Amino acid sequence: MSLKDKVRDAGVAGCGGAGFPTAVKLGGTYEYLIVNGVECEPLLRTDRYIMRTFADRVVSAVSAVQKELAIPNAVIALKHNYTEEIESLKKAIKAAGASITIHQLESFYPAGDEQTLVYEVTGRIVPPGGIPGKVGAVVDNVGTMLAIQDALEDIPFTQKYLTVNGDVAKPTVLKVPVGTSFRKCLELAGGTLNDKFVLISGGPAMGRIIKQENLDKEFVTKTTSGILVLPADGYHAGYQDMNPRHMLSRARSACIQCSFCSQLCPRALLGHPLRPHKIMRRMAVTADIKTVLDDPEIQAAQLCCECGVCEIYACPMGLQPRRINGLIKRELAANKIKYNAGDIALAADAERENRKAPSKKLAGRMGLAPYYDADIKAFIEYQADEVSIPLKMTVGVPCVPCVKKGDKVKAGDIIAKVPDNTLGAQIHASIDGKVASIDDKITIVKE
Ligand code: SF4
Ligand code: SF4
Repeated sequence: MSLKDKVRDAGVAGCGGAGFPTAVKLGGTYEYLIVNGVECEPLLRTDRYIMRTFADRVVSAVSAVQKELAIPNAVIALKHNYTEEIESLKKAIKAAGASITIHQLESFYPAGDEQTLVYEVTGRIVPPGGIPGKVGAVVDNVGTMLAIQDALEDIPFTQKYLTVNGDVAKPTVLKVPVGTSFRKCLELAGGTLNDKFVLISGGPAMGRIIKQENLDKEFVTKTTSGILVLPADGYHAGYQDMNPRHMLSRARSACIQCSFCSQLCPRALLGHPLRPHKIMRRMAVTADIKTVLDDPEIQAAQLCCECGVCEIYACPMGLQPRRINGLIKRELAANKIKYNAGDIALAADAERENRKAPSKKLAGRMGLAPYYDADIKAFIEYQADEVSIPLKMTVGVPCVPCVKKGDKVKAGDIIAKVPDNTLGAQIHASIDGKVASIDDKITIVKE
């Protein structure tokens, strides 16, 4: 069986972002395989744990992918201050005699953004709206590489590494079965320090904010990189509560057109024609988004990766260009409008190096300085008695259950499949047990 088939059968999906089914990426021709170990979101430590602990398995997977796809250059990219991880990887590369280089980046955000990373490693600029493959690169996260190594050994993707950090008694890296409840993960990290808090699934800049009352609806998926417990009265509190009308009226009354959001936007700094300050200017005089969708300046919102630099770091007025771009993107998608930048010459901004957002400062703007330098060494591997595995965990369509209530399953059995001719990653049982219920999740309870 080919590596690609093994990866598909194991249900591997990208661990670092939205969860693109990995097998699909393994079908192209590339000059660069870039393994993303940057972990640029403050407070997360999952990828660092993986690189320290499983450097040999990561290196083995990188070599296997490199060989299978005949990729001339394999690069593991991470931050220069990850000294232990760099050491572990260097040792593993030497021991394996692998042809892999290590690329060290400064500590800026979003260094791990795919397009930023491709530029940092190769000097090539992914065209606006394009994917790294357009410039001969494929990017995969280190956690994905670990899952690929498992797949090569016929181990399906059923276990997830994640960081629990913030206001918990013992910030910890966990290995848990997919489908473990967030509540259990918090317990494993010693519990929360305060009665009231805000939860984030993922990193503090791009992660999904979860209200405390919704804690029991959350379960670990193939893409959960972290669970953060943050103050109930901090930066993230109420962020999502502001409705679009209020957000736009604030933009109208308070945007001073300083253009800092555009000057510091990582995509604009790569030469992409995205200018959030111009979008804000246009939106300030627009009563209804639908009336401006034919404007190319507005359509350029599709180039926004929603990293949040513009609102967390750049805007002196506390406005939300990222969220406004998000609204526009959804409206454009609903109207099937795709931005086309045309055949433009691309060059990174001459000031790019001076305008990178330092990670520590960015974390400070979100009130996260007290947690920023946490040296998390605690690790727990947990065997769950009950899991609820969502049918949609990756990019693509939800999987279709192939088990029914009452069925007995073993860890590793396929319990939901990707419908024919669609995109997705099949799902395996992550524990032994009995199927207790099926809705938008499959719940398995140990007998
Ligand atoms: S969120 Fe803001 S800074 Fe980030 S890409 Fe979008 S417009 Fe640029
Ligand atoms: S940084 Fe803020 S105030 Fe300045 S142009 Fe952008 S949205 Fe307006």
